[in-house]
Amino acid sequence: MFEVSVEETFAAGHALRHYKGKCENVHGHNYRIRVTLEGEHVDKVSGLLVDFADIKRILRKIVAYLDHQFINDLPPFHELNPSAENIAWFFCTEMQKGLTEAPANATAQASVRVRSVRVWETDTCEATYRP
Ligand SMILES: [Zn+2]
Repeated sequence: MFEVSVEETFAAGHALRHYKGKCENVHGHNYRIRVTLEGEHVDKVSGLLVDFADIKRILRKIVAYLDHQFINDLPPFHELNPSAENIAWFFCTEMQKGLTEAPANATAQASVRVRSVRVWETDTCEATYRP
């Protein structure tokens, strides 16, 4: 099995609903996201599982949706609590959609899927989602 990972960062605000503590208040994080994709085969010619540039293009589109926003205002987080866990789930879902919709000339193999998404809210606090 091959794995490739790409990281991005963004800044955004959120407030956790139904949370008894200071995270209930509006505050912000410099989020770090690591998306890991996996697949059993690399392209015979290029030797790539998936082009890093393709992963970054999809990932940056998702990041652009959240960057410098108040996450609670944006679907699905207007209903879903914007915890690091749920943000990891969201990136996983959107990333998988992006891979499926990738143009035919992209190097992404049909068998490539999201293995995990990690979201850091701080240097020492991280949540992971695996589909
Ligand atoms: Zn927070």
